[in-house]
Amino acid sequence: MKKISITETVEMVGKEVELYGWVDTKRDHKKIVFIDLRDRTGTVQVVGGEEFKALSEEDVVYVKGLVKARPEKMVNIKSKTGTVEIEAKEIKVLNKTKPLPLPVNTDGRDIDEEVRLKYRYLDIRRPRMYKNLALRSKFIDQIRQYLFGNNFLEIETPILSETTPEGARDFIVPSRLQLGKFYALPQSPQQYKQLLMVGGVEKYFQIARCFRDEDPRADRAYGEFTQLDLEMSFVERKDVMNLVEGLMIDVYEKLDVPIKQKPFPVFTYDEAKKKFGADKFDLRTDEDKKNNVQAFAWVVDFPFFEKVPLRQGSAGQASEEAWTFTHNPFSAPKPEFMKDLLEKKNIGNILTTQYDLVCNGYEVGGGSIRNHTPQGLKAVFEIMGLGEAEINLKFGHMIEALGYGAPPHGGMAPGIDRLLTCITEEKNLREVIAMPMTSGGRTSIMKAPSVVKDEKLKELGIKVINPLTR
Ligand code: ASP
Repeated sequence: MKKISITETVEMVGKEVELYGWVDTKRDHKKIVFIDLRDRTGTVQVVGGEEFKALSEEDVVYVKGLVKARPEKMVNIKSKTGTVEIEAKEIKVLNKTKPLPLPVNTDGRDIDEEVRLKYRYLDIRRPRMYKNLALRSKFIDQIRQYLFGNNFLEIETPILSETTPEGARDFIVPSRLQLGKFYALPQSPQQYKQLLMVGGVEKYFQIARCFRDEDPRADRAYGEFTQLDLEMSFVERKDVMNLVEGLMIDVYEKLDVPIKQKPFPVFTYDEAKKKFGADKFDLRTDEDKKNNVQAFAWVVDFPFFEKVPLRQGSAGQASEEAWTFTHNPFSAPKPEFMKDLLEKKNIGNILTTQYDLVCNGYEVGGGSIRNHTPQGLKAVFEIMGLGEAEINLKFGHMIEALGYGAPPHGGMAPGIDRLLTCITEEKNLREVIAMPMTSGGRTSIMKAPSVVKDEKLKELGIKVINPLTR
């Protein structure tokens, strides 16, 4: 087993070490050949003779050698191991490489992204990508530590599920056991986490994968993303906001990432619109941007409903427009608007308990206090023009569950991918995801979506009417 990482050699002058890694670069000076040997911690210079001539960049090798201090004028201040070099005693090639389809010892930004994603397993060899993945791992670790410290339970919720309204299209999965029926992949664990509150869990979180079939956008990760999903019982709006703000401050401190303003400034939706012209905005100065300062802010007091053109086939409303939720149909209104909600009056004035977290110009998460009574939730769907039968079909389980002693509850879901792009100053969410889909909705490396054999389709009772790619 590999026992020493490459950067540890700095502390091992005079000792013999066994190193494992990849040949990062090779410099052939006739009798002497230098390689930089790389593992995930960094590179170190190894000096060898004739036997190094056959090595190629990216060969996987084992090197046994003596760690020597470099003479002062040979010290390379640019490298973490620049004070030492390894005098090779033995070298073994563990796997000879073919020429790579893309370089991995650059930052990779000038390489076509389709190529990078096709060979993502090589692309993540580049130190920039490894750094992003390592940061992601640490970020999630710190989140877990904070929440466990606050007595949260981490609980998984189903992936094969029923549609939940988050405003995007669902991915659907056909059922073999019940032909003609489909599961939907969750757009968020919203309903399940609320049901956990009905179940008495009180404090839940999950590093949750969410699936939304949104139109591809260049800076987005299509298809799936990860959010820190959390929910708490017996709370008011300020409690959830305080918990999330405390978590962010703690995690960012542990990662040494500066935050511009603490406590986070709070703007009402109206204030934000007036001041910034939008409900997401960037509070950083040029100086902040240079120092990678993260500027968080809250936005509250959004209208609960907005008018949209009536969807075709939607029942119940005579007008050309229908009310729909601006953020989340499961939200409660602010307490002073509960009466209007229940009476379905002054609908355009009702404000929701929704709170959005903004960072560096992006909306990085949202949440709300929920309607925890059956009447409240039902009123939301009625305002949206859903009939009794449709409400029961889609949300009967929620309305029933809320009737069995559901505690007041609320939660939030900050987006992990977006927060990480802000910290790393990456432009594109895909840079902080190990194996994201391409912007056109294809998986990295593997070729999904792909054609399914006819017999498989038959088993599912499915016929493809208009095959585009057969
Ligand atoms: N379900 C919401 C979302 O995914 C977050 C929440 O309200 O907790 O955006």
